[in-house]
Amino acid sequence: MDFHLVNLDCPACGSAMAAGPNDILFLCAHCGSGAVLGDTGLDKVDSTALMPAPGRRAMLWRPGWSVEADVVVDDRRGFKGRVTPGWSGRRQFIIPAFPLALEDLTLLAGALSSAADTTGEVPKEPCLGGTLDLADTLVFIRYLIMGTEITKPDDLASVNIEISPISHRIVALPFEHADGRLRCAVTGTVVRGE
Ligand SMILES: [Zn+2]
Repeated sequence: MDFHLVNLDCPACGSAMAAGPNDILFLCAHCGSGAVLGDTGLDKVDSTALMPAPGRRAMLWRPGWSVEADVVVDDRRGFKGRVTPGWSGRRQFIIPAFPLALEDLTLLAGALSSAADTTGEVPKEPCLGGTLDLADTLVFIRYLIMGTEITKPDDLASVNIEISPISHRIVALPFEHADGRLRCAVTGTVVRGE
């Protein structure tokens, strides 16, 4: 096994990035830049933040991915061979990138992706725990779309889903503490976290 030490300095401003032991994506608490762990160091990625909904406040921040993609859902076939209409369009997905149970991840990603979100400056605060890479995020987006298609009231047997990513950013997501759980300050969704 090869080990090499990677310098976790922000590729934009040079400040040391705070990181958890398994973190692979980062937001600089000094300048707000995003970065992912590459083969030789940190690679800069565009970054943004979602702002808390009115009446909610950011007590802590966790990282996620904001992915814009063109989605085509076609060749929807039922068990009896009936073909039902698909759809296509550009969609914005907000996928939490910190460790969550699949059920919570699905719930929160669904709520965040359909919320009319307000973006703002990346907070000058720690935003740790990013462990989901972009490739796995795209796999999860497929899972999310598949889940939505399956819950439509027909007898879906097979479907073709194509996802063409247009852009991606690391996004800081605001949360409130809620009795040992995390409440999303954008959508109000409560998840187990930590
Ligand atoms: Zn920086």
